[in-house]
Amino acid sequence: MENFTFYNPVKLIFGKGQLDKLPEEASKYGKKILLVYGGGSIKRNGVYDNIISKLDEIEAEVHELSGVEPNPRVSTVRKGIDICKSENIEFLIAAGGGSTIDATKAIAAGAKTETDIWDIVTKKEKAKDALPFGTVLTISATGSEMNRGSVLTNWETHEKHGWGSPYTYPKFSILDPAHTFSVPREQTVYGMVDIMSHVLEHYFHHTRNTPVQDRFCESILRTIIETAPKLLDDLENYEHRETVMLSGTLALNDMLNMGYRGDWGTHNLEHAVSAVHDIPHGGGLAILFPNWMRYVLDKDNAYRFKQLAERVFDIDTSGKSDYDAAVEGIERLRDFWISIGAPATLGDYGIDEASIEEMADKTVIARPEYGNLKKLTRDDSVNILKSSL
Ligand code: NAP
Ligand code: FE
Repeated sequence: MENFTFYNPVKLIFGKGQLDKLPEEASKYGKKILLVYGGGSIKRNGVYDNIISKLDEIEAEVHELSGVEPNPRVSTVRKGIDICKSENIEFLIAAGGGSTIDATKAIAAGAKTETDIWDIVTKKEKAKDALPFGTVLTISATGSEMNRGSVLTNWETHEKHGWGSPYTYPKFSILDPAHTFSVPREQTVYGMVDIMSHVLEHYFHHTRNTPVQDRFCESILRTIIETAPKLLDDLENYEHRETVMLSGTLALNDMLNMGYRGDWGTHNLEHAVSAVHDIPHGGGLAILFPNWMRYVLDKDNAYRFKQLAERVFDIDTSGKSDYDAAVEGIERLRDFWISIGAPATLGDYGIDEASIEEMADKTVIARPEYGNLKKLTRDDSVNILKSSL
């Protein structure tokens, strides 16, 4: 392992009816509140009404920013920043999924500075402070509810970048699995692919002696593989929603990657694809991940892929080379995602050869090389994207 410092200050409030804790938690930070949400799912499933009635209990002055897009846009974030400044907002509540939470992180940071938020997202400037915020999670996927990361899209320049700061951890996150009952089947699949991808991005690294971390990762992967078909048969099953919700949070709250650094190459590729085509994040990952794996697999790193094949997919590797076992594991991952209804080719979203170069350009905007298991360049991006058509 490498030396590490672990710090995660997010108060996780998990379980049935836990929205009851909202008044007590929110009132610690002020009564002028901005409620941030997406395209209206929280109005259709009752979460909005419940939040408003909880905030009435503390006589909060509630302002609203609705319409945060899936793949949230910096233009929407700027509207939120303007509201915070003009209304002297003291606290923000993000009610929704990763998009709403990520937008709220950026609004919270942008409200405390005159620097344009896109300069912070693109790392020209650093966030120096942020308004406090809490989240009410309604979809299991990103882990944004318990980390400091945020991913924003600039639709004018077709760029999508991840950023984060020590100030963008939620003060608390309320996770009631019942809030995810209404997530449609397709989005439920995308969420589970995203969760598995976060674990896999951790899993592929060079650091020796990470047995505890490996087993944590493998346990989450196995749990999702076991639960996914049951949940998709019964979308309002509390226990399955609960299992997936906790998996999503643990997959990206920095507990899995203590003592080593994973490889976020597939997320970088996916951000490039959705910056140009605005496709769902989980859908893009399902297409790209197996192809990234095949591309970076070599004789030196095959042992990790073989371990995945054995421990997660129960593949009998006796008599097989590490490389062959690895390839079998990768195919099993692809087959599993296809079996739950995830897309397998960029063509499934109508994306063809024409935009390969543009997407490849986006993978190297922030730096000329990316990835950790294997350093990749723009040419590698072209090859992986082509193999994903
Ligand atoms: P999302 O984009 O927040 O939401 C996807 C869709 O699901 C929206 O249309 C939303 O509708 C709907 N939805 C959410 N909750 C629902 C519910 N309970 N019932 C019915 N529909 C519901 O999804 P996400 O996968 O959580 O977030 C994706 C974004 O996060 C991407 O931009 C991705 O790049 C980013 N990301 C962030 C991190 C991180 O650590 N910060 C990690 C990975 C990915 P409404 O808009 O109407 O609510
Ligand atoms: Fe993700």
